[in-house]
Amino acid sequence: MDTCDVCGNHEGRMFTVTMASQTGTFDSFECAIHMMAPACEHCGCRILGHPVESEPGIYCCLHCAKEAGNPHRAAKPQHSTVAVPAPGAAGGQG
Ligand SMILES: [Zn+2]
Ligand SMILES: [Zn+2]
Repeated sequence: MDTCDVCGNHEGRMFTVTMASQTGTFDSFECAIHMMAPACEHCGCRILGHPVESEPGIYCCLHCAKEAGNPHRAAKPQHSTVAVPAPGAAGGQG
């Protein structure tokens, strides 16, 4: 009987996910994500969308890549016009 590799549940529909050389058996995508999804190397959250990859790591978003000091090379080699507020500045975006 198949058992979820993450939570141990063995009831319901089981499925397997293969990524690279790793294969797991899960009862839900939540469990699959828990085990298979890569984690942002800056904030640690699971990357469910397209990751931002740079040489030293993989990040959930450009913000994290920048914060980690590894700005993703954008298609345009020109200077970015995106204003990044200084840490501690008033702003709701975290
Ligand atoms: Zn599970
Ligand atoms: Zn992140």
